[in-house]
Amino acid sequence: MRVVAHVDMDAFFAAVEERMNPHLAGKPLAVGGDLKRRGVIAAANYPARKYGLHAGMSTGEALRLCPELTLVEGNPQKYVHVSLQILEILKDYTPIVEPFSIDEAFLDLTGSPRLKASRWNDYDTQDSADVLDAAIPIARAIQRAILRKTGLGATVGVGPNKYIAKMASGVQKPRGLTVLTQERYREHFWPKGVQELWGIGEKTRVALEKLGISTVGKLAHFPKEFLTYHFGMNGDHMRDAAWGRDDGAVIPYYEGIPLKSMGHEFTLSVDVTSREKIAAHLLRLSDQVGRRMRQDGYVGRVVTLKLRDSKFKTYTRQRSLSEAMNDEEQIYRTAVALLDENWDGRPLRLLGVSVSDLSSNGEAIQPSLFDEDEHRKKMTAAVDSLRDRFGDSALVRAGVLE
Ligand SMILES: [Mg+2]
Repeated sequence: MRVVAHVDMDAFFAAVEERMNPHLAGKPLAVGGDLKRRGVIAAANYPARKYGLHAGMSTGEALRLCPELTLVEGNPQKYVHVSLQILEILKDYTPIVEPFSIDEAFLDLTGSPRLKASRWNDYDTQDSADVLDAAIPIARAIQRAILRKTGLGATVGVGPNKYIAKMASGVQKPRGLTVLTQERYREHFWPKGVQELWGIGEKTRVALEKLGISTVGKLAHFPKEFLTYHFGMNGDHMRDAAWGRDDGAVIPYYEGIPLKSMGHEFTLSVDVTSREKIAAHLLRLSDQVGRRMRQDGYVGRVVTLKLRDSKFKTYTRQRSLSEAMNDEEQIYRTAVALLDENWDGRPLRLLGVSVSDLSSNGEAIQPSLFDEDEHRKKMTAAVDSLRDRFGDSALVRAGVLE
């Protein structure tokens, strides 16, 4: 089993502002976008939340509810800077840190020496609760280190996978620490409304309610086929969420981790036999791979094409180039050449392109926090929401800030 922690900063933007202006500590404070335009507030600290303030509320409404509120203009560059500082702290506890948004990250602690040094050495024979509980001292140490080095509070959730860890961190805030096994997760969330699940928004809640699914427990036990019928792939995801199942790995995502390869693959919605369509997908995949390599500052020499046919047989073919590169055009041309040489026209259901034999060219575009790769959609959404709150200046890459 895995041991995953989700670290979520408490009222991040507001906390950073409080730290800059210590005389405001403990008083209601909200961070806004452009205060002259009297827009909406982007974040509220906990004293302000007691008045019912929350992100997205208009500043007018916020001031009506809480006349003594201090409004501070948001400073995204400062937040990005602190965010990177926090990532550095997290990397002291495991190399497998996945920044998830400006104020959240996943950590895979499974192989952590600190965890191993505890008396739970043999994961397979231990009760999962014991293994997860062994992460408590690490979680506490992380909270203390963040507080000591940045002055900010953090909440940690621990679970056997990313989904449960993320849900656990929402159970008790601020400065909370919650450990949930799969069993405890179900006990805790099954009686609750489906909107409590991460990923289920208002629209989906309404759609589920129409089917008579109001609680997480009902969702867990609703016939799988009906969920798929109504929601397609998302039906499966929702059901997995209700059961606390998630086999997604924590993907370390910052400069400095030596990667073996970078690639993308794509499952086709119908089996495809048209070379033209396949080439179009390869172009898109090559483009994603090239872009991500450039963003992270890698060049590579070996291009691999992966094909899976309609009978689920998988083939990979690779070619070494004379020089390491990160150019999508070259990746694409090589992938298409491999296709033409090896494909006999049989129907395909999955395509993949990757580049390996990687080396760093030291030109990473910092921070990978703001990568736009397909796998990072959620991150992009978080950054987009930052942009909505603060305007485009929020997207200044941290490298520019140094
Ligand atoms: Mg937060």
